Amino acid sequence: MGIEEFRKNAKDMVDWICDYYASNEELPVRSEVEPGYLRPRLPQTAPQHPENFNSIMQDVHAHIMPGITHWQSPNFFAYFPSNSSFPAMLGEMLSTALSTVGFCWIGSPATTELETIVMDWLGKLLCLPTSFLAFDEQGKRGLGGGVIQGSASESTLVSLLAARARALAGRPMDDAGRLVAYSSDQAHSSIKKACMVAGTPYVRIIPASPEHDYAFDAVALEEAIREDLEAGLLPFYVTATIGTTSSCAVDPIAHIGRITQQYGLWLHVDAAYAGVTSMLPECRHHFEGLELVDSFITNGHKWLLTNFDCSCMWVRNAEPLKAALSLTPAYLRGKGNDLDYKDWQVPLGRRFRSLKLWFVLRSYGTENIKKFLRHHIDLGKLFVSLIQTDARLEIVAPPRWGLICFRLRGPGNEATTELLERVNKSGKAFLVHTELSGRYVARMAIGGSLTQERHVRAAWQLISQCATEVLAARAQRK
Ligand code: PLP
Repeated sequence: MGIEEFRKNAKDMVDWICDYYASNEELPVRSEVEPGYLRPRLPQTAPQHPENFNSIMQDVHAHIMPGITHWQSPNFFAYFPSNSSFPAMLGEMLSTALSTVGFCWIGSPATTELETIVMDWLGKLLCLPTSFLAFDEQGKRGLGGGVIQGSASESTLVSLLAARARALAGRPMDDAGRLVAYSSDQAHSSIKKACMVAGTPYVRIIPASPEHDYAFDAVALEEAIREDLEAGLLPFYVTATIGTTSSCAVDPIAHIGRITQQYGLWLHVDAAYAGVTSMLPECRHHFEGLELVDSFITNGHKWLLTNFDCSCMWVRNAEPLKAALSLTPAYLRGKGNDLDYKDWQVPLGRRFRSLKLWFVLRSYGTENIKKFLRHHIDLGKLFVSLIQTDARLEIVAPPRWGLICFRLRGPGNEATTELLERVNKSGKAFLVHTELSGRYVARMAIGGSLTQERHVRAAWQLISQCATEVLAARAQRK
């Protein structure tokens, strides 16, 4: 494809994207194809001769679109939101076009330096402790700083690797077998995966109870650490969550932080979804204790209008991270500074991700971003008030931000299972479930870039109507 052909096709693609965004609310939100649907529809091998843009796009319409679940639909209420926005897309387009691989400073100085600047901007906006910033107000370089990882799971993994490096510094390697990590049973599964990858398989999962709104039991954590120390083990790492995936529980960071400081453990805080609300004064109380934390992440690609991938991670001191991940063969040596981001992540190559975040922060401005978050928090409150008008339904965990966990009252799980399947089959909304204390619970996650009040009201009407149908069908079956 030559330049002029690209110019034309790219304009057509932008038109296609605009049409998609103007109409995606009409599309069935959850794809209804069966596993393996695509293989019989596409050739067995790559084409030997060139095909043109239009014929590829025809196949996009005919074969790809039916298999798309529309995360950017305003009626998408599943998982957590994964925002996109036009400024982010423009930044992404530019990043793709420049295609830098900014593993070290000289590899593309702007790629490194913009990331440092944008992460400091965002860190300040989130009111993170100054120790998390790369540069203080006087422009003095600190020990910490921010880095954009591909996902929250990668952020958790590198924090664990840094914690392990710190814990094992000056110790015999054999001690690695005695390391213990801790999390609550409500923490994201990525913590277990990080332990699997890091070869520190001993992770103690502390149960969180409904009496404490599913938050991490800090007292039980301290008991577990003491027990393990007495047993000759090496407690080294705790992950706590602000906004757990199942129910948006908030772990007591300040309490846990005092414990990790006392026993010398690394504390990682996973605020993948809710972390961005640290910029709102009315949400700041959830973030108390961050000055006791070693690493903190929130995903720009969840609720900050920045398309996947953009996991924003800060560390108070980058030295353990570099101790765990720094490796510089001859061909990578050269002019640089202390910020070669290859030393802050697992892969060598890295995309110019900060461009899209920079486009977002500049195009919206912080005031509009705050409005955007408050808008969804208000829609969450609206949905709670709608549920409360219906005695057949109950809310099963404190609703927080845009996440509301609810179920049909009654002993069994089947009714709520049927309710959710009926809602999702309609194509008019998509929600997923979780399990809380063995109960099947529907999760309404509000935060899509395009979601407005009318979409939440329509989802509520659909849920209410499906509840009527499910209860009637069950009464008939009895
Ligand atoms: N942590 C929490 C609290 C999450 O809710 C999620 C995903 O929803 C993750 C981590 C994993 O995020 P990622 O897909 O960026 O690895």
